[in-house]
Amino acid sequence: MIEKSQIVEVLEDYDMDDLAIATLASHTALHILKGAQEEGFKSIAVCVKGREVPYQRLRVVDEIIFVDHFAEMNNPEIQELLRERNALVVPHGSFVAYVGLDKIENEFMVPMIGNRRILRWESERDKERQLLEKAGIRMPKKIMDPRDIDRPVIVKFPGARGGRGYFITDSPEGFNQKVEAMIKRGWLSEEDVVNAHIEEYIAGTNFCLQYFYSPIFDEVELMGMDRRFESNIDGLTRIPAKDQIETNMEPSYVVTGNIQVAARESLLEQVYAMGDALKRAAEELVPPGLIGPFCIQTMCTENLEFVAFEISARMDGGTNVFMNGSPYSYLRWLEPMSSGRRLAREVKMALEKDEIEKLIT
Ligand code: AMP
Repeated sequence: MIEKSQIVEVLEDYDMDDLAIATLASHTALHILKGAQEEGFKSIAVCVKGREVPYQRLRVVDEIIFVDHFAEMNNPEIQELLRERNALVVPHGSFVAYVGLDKIENEFMVPMIGNRRILRWESERDKERQLLEKAGIRMPKKIMDPRDIDRPVIVKFPGARGGRGYFITDSPEGFNQKVEAMIKRGWLSEEDVVNAHIEEYIAGTNFCLQYFYSPIFDEVELMGMDRRFESNIDGLTRIPAKDQIETNMEPSYVVTGNIQVAARESLLEQVYAMGDALKRAAEELVPPGLIGPFCIQTMCTENLEFVAFEISARMDGGTNVFMNGSPYSYLRWLEPMSSGRRLAREVKMALEKDEIEKLIT
């Protein structure tokens, strides 16, 4: 594990008057890079050749470092280029997926804004559950054995299939039938079935709550909210029930985009309480805890209770819905404030107070 002291050493060679903010050109890079520019930092994208168009056309990059594959961001020569440019790297979902947790933890010797140790905690389901339980945030009940299915459940499979092949059922028989059908179609292997994750299906409305913990102000800010736009489930639910049955289609939950939402105002107290609680739990379990952007993905039930089914302990994709600020970030800052810009603002404030070490690992 790369220790913070090693990263602080790297930072000692940096020119603090000429810092750059860098990220992998994917996921939430647009507002991370633009936010860096808005706050007066140079923005650097590590970009796969051929994928540079949006970053150039939207004028968010000051420099592009080209690679052939996303994973090359971890190559020693790319790391060196980043350090030469005094770059602070912003981790996001694609960075974690392509570079990989082991390499981020043990090889990526570039200062990162955020807690590099906590990335594993959002990626592994039991660790994620531990964090949420510690925070006292309600989660869907987990069902350990398919024979115990006694209510509507959603069945998820491991690996990077991102919502593909998830299914809903409400009995052990239903589980077996669906699994068999999917194995026949070649969508699942026997091994996947052993590793199936079964949890209570929460028929609520989706709120992905986007937060920002500021170590400089010691405050959790509500940055915005989104809900997921998912294929094919969002298409499937546009088909009337009788036709749905005829189509015989299986649902999938592949995120294709995000939609901005606002919650009933009376829910906001709960929203802040959850953000504060997760921040405290993370501080205890994975010090120094959450730094900067994080997200709690929830369903809100008809009893107006939030149930969290996932978290992001870094910039979440749903922040893309408020690149120009959300209703909440506007109220807090009275200017268009994306999560990317907020992160750059935090760096700026940390520099002024000579507290940059609070933000990086
Ligand atoms: P995940 O891969 O866990 O992010 O889930 C993908 C999508 O499946 C979510 O965005 C929700 O639409 C849906 N989903 C996941 N877990 C649940 C749950 N426990 N109850 C209802 N819907 C869920």
